[in-house]
Amino acid sequence: MPGPRAAAAGADAPLLEVDDLHVEFRTSRGTVHAVNGLGYTLHAGRTLALLGESGSGKSVAAQAVMGLLPTPPARITRGTVRLRGQDLLRLSDAEHRKVRGTRIAMVFQDALSALNPVLTVGDQLGEMFRVHRGLRRREARAKAVELMDRVRIPGAARRLDDYPHQFSGGMRQRVMIAMALALDPEVVIADEPTTALDVTVQAQIMRLLAELQQETGMGLLLITHDLGVVASVADRITVMYAGRVVEESDAPRLYKAPAHPYTRGLLDSVPRLDRHGERLVPIPGSPPDLARLPAGCAFHPRCGSARPRCAAERPALLTVGAPDAERRSACHFTDELLDRGGRP
Ligand code: SF4
Repeated sequence: MPGPRAAAAGADAPLLEVDDLHVEFRTSRGTVHAVNGLGYTLHAGRTLALLGESGSGKSVAAQAVMGLLPTPPARITRGTVRLRGQDLLRLSDAEHRKVRGTRIAMVFQDALSALNPVLTVGDQLGEMFRVHRGLRRREARAKAVELMDRVRIPGAARRLDDYPHQFSGGMRQRVMIAMALALDPEVVIADEPTTALDVTVQAQIMRLLAELQQETGMGLLLITHDLGVVASVADRITVMYAGRVVEESDAPRLYKAPAHPYTRGLLDSVPRLDRHGERLVPIPGSPPDLARLPAGCAFHPRCGSARPRCAAERPALLTVGAPDAERRSACHFTDELLDRGGRP
């Protein structure tokens, strides 16, 4: 359900549109093609999960959106990133800095290293309001308490003068989320926000993100390798492999019948409450070297459904089913696989 901001802005108006994004790194081993034509659209009040194993290019793509890529060695060679129609890739560093935090904010996966260990949490949260909103110290501290309450940190006023190491992992991640929300951004990008947490705390953090999204109407981009983590919160899922989109779909259909063998592999490798007694099957092999991508379908060396055509011809990302289904897959044999329930 879209939140109030989405309703105000028109839930169907694209908020963040990434199109044909290419990012490469020049290294001593050659050019690493980290992102190869990524595209997705995030709407206000919606949650899009960008899913893939590590090395699939999802975090690099997020850094490109945030203007955080070190250039060099990184180079954005093609594409657009539009926030309400404004191309962020054309902004100067100073202009991009203004957008960061105020219009797009990021929740990093490792709160302990993202937070400053020698400043209290209250000072770090308050600084956002002092620097960006010109508030005085007392007002900024009051805003910090409000934020800590909003992310459900118990005893917020008492904990204002605690340092990051005095918080548990889950509470630290709530502080990171509070910092991201401080300036009421339109888009929040959460990069593996629960990786370092145990399963119970993971679920609490995902629930919190979903609730906050409902309250604020922000667009939420969740970057993750774990389909289990996003099951209950994502509206749409974009699956990446070797820097490319291999499948995009609304979440329920993707879980019910994945169209791409890689998505099927990811689903088979996570525990699911609706599949009692089924064995977990990891995807064989490992992601390809992005400096030496395989010819044809980049997934073919690991794919149980591969045929000779797969090593020779790269599959295009094509619509699956009816055009209004807004579902696409990049596999030569999507229709056959769907007929067999996605099984090789
Ligand atoms: Fe597997 Fe071939 Fe489809 Fe690639 S194109 S996912 S190798 S069946």
